[in-house]
Amino acid sequence: MARYTEAVCRMCRREGQKLFLKGDRCYTQKCAMECRAYAPGMHGQNRSKTSEYGQQLREKQKAKRYYGLLENQFRNYFELAERRPGQTGENLLAILESRLDNVVYRLGFAMSRAEARQLVSHGHFTVNGRKVNIPSFLVKPGMVISLKDSSKSLEKIKANVEANAFRQPPKWLEYDANNMIAKVTAFPAREDIDLPIEEHLIVELYSK
Ligand code: SF4
Repeated sequence: MARYTEAVCRMCRREGQKLFLKGDRCYTQKCAMECRAYAPGMHGQNRSKTSEYGQQLREKQKAKRYYGLLENQFRNYFELAERRPGQTGENLLAILESRLDNVVYRLGFAMSRAEARQLVSHGHFTVNGRKVNIPSFLVKPGMVISLKDSSKSLEKIKANVEANAFRQPPKWLEYDANNMIAKVTAFPAREDIDLPIEEHLIVELYSK
């Protein structure tokens, strides 16, 4: 499957904010945004005025990068969001949040969405009792996501769960931490998504 090959910290520097793509490192002084908080490249430190189109483009790129998606995948989600009733921008974010890799990340099994994608691909999770190894699988209300019994003893997952114990799962996921099972209780609402994305700019960009 095609993936970004660009160094991930460059993406944060390009967007001018932390996107938390590297797990533990993002919370340390080694984070590139702590020491080089300007755009990469020769002219990265030059200030330039951003056009309206530029702002819309940056917002779309930022959302794509948060969720680790390529342009085509992102565009397909946008078209799906348009077909759903309600506001397209909010629908788009709800769809992105509903990806199984994002759910695994939100539940604290992984330190980053990239790691969550890998854990899902390796078949560590079930949905409604059946193994699902497709990171883009969209969860729906009523579905039950759980870590496979045979994966509960994996050191990496145990360490991640411990490190993320302070994180609260979003309201639309009812999580039983003892059994490592979560039930989807609703579609994610805008107020449940804490990412600083101005989704209306993405809608404006794609509506041109
Ligand atoms: Fe972004 Fe994390 Fe790299 Fe910092 S360490 S620049 S937050 S990916």
